Amino acid sequence: MVTGLTGARKRERDLQRRAGRRAARQTGTAQESSGKDIAMTSSQAVRAVLAGLEHSRSWQEELYRDVHRHPELPHQEHRTAALVAERLRSAGYQVHEGVGGTGVVGVLANGEGPVVLLRADMDALPVREATGLPYASAVTATDATGAEVPVMHACAHDAHVACLAGAAHLLAEGREHWTGTVVALFQPAEEAGDGARAMVADGLAGLIPPPTVALAQHVMALPAGQSSPAPDPCCRQQTACGSPCTAAAPTARCRTPRSIRWCSRR
Ligand SMILES: [Zn+2]
Repeated sequence: MVTGLTGARKRERDLQRRAGRRAARQTGTAQESSGKDIAMTSSQAVRAVLAGLEHSRSWQEELYRDVHRHPELPHQEHRTAALVAERLRSAGYQVHEGVGGTGVVGVLANGEGPVVLLRADMDALPVREATGLPYASAVTATDATGAEVPVMHACAHDAHVACLAGAAHLLAEGREHWTGTVVALFQPAEEAGDGARAMVADGLAGLIPPPTVALAQHVMALPAGQSSPAPDPCCRQQTACGSPCTAAAPTARCRTPRSIRWCSRR
């Protein structure tokens, strides 16, 4: 189901499309003077898609603060799931909700090409927040044992959610610059360790085309504005050693597989 766009969303979308076309022209990817189409290189296409970032950053930060303020324990991510499902629908994705409990999957088919699965985890930890931030969590919830516990996004899943929602939005707005299929997957219960398995057991494979590549993300100790793409298990390597990841030169300790959960409790 695709919901209608609000006036503000329409304006946001139009601004982003215009910015994408402007970026494409600036990188020489618009039509030649003869009027004949020329192919975009992948880096030019990336720049054109990312041109919408300046218009999406404010709502992404708003979404991040909202999710941070309202953390949910594993298998209880109902509010977060509803937020991302609404975002995906309004961007034009085909949305499946309640996959493996609270999982959400958005599919955007955009012609021939690779199927790229992008994943974010949504759950928070039984940790009391003491950051003093204006958007700090004061949430408590009942855990799987029946105990009342404080809840906090202490493992950055709030950032993962906001980043994937933003990426899904930009890819939808800039779909004229790429072809293929995007699968935006919001996974429950990463901290409990059984959320991904629950989605698979609930028929995930029947909801999406087979992915060509699957990408996950984790906030790490890197300078702002930098990312460090690497094949798994880089995430676990870095969080285990507690220092910025240099995939080209991992230390002996980095090579020891550790779970992200282990690291988040350090
Ligand atoms: Zn985590």
